[in-house]
Amino acid sequence: METRCPLCRRFVPNESQRWCTCGSAMDARCYDAHAPWCASDGDERWIGAQEL
Ligand SMILES: [Zn+2]
Ligand SMILES: [Zn+2]
Repeated sequence: METRCPLCRRFVPNESQRWCTCGSAMDARCYDAHAPWCASDGDERWIGAQEL
């Protein structure tokens, strides 16, 4: 199974995959750069909201 990084559009090896809270898989480098445009916007409060 091939996963393509949504940021740099390069294929990401399974070993380098990082799953973001928004559901996107990307390489470790882009994981940090992905934060500004991430759908979850780095908001971790949704984790607590699940307990409601
Ligand atoms: Zn990338
Ligand atoms: Zn994300």
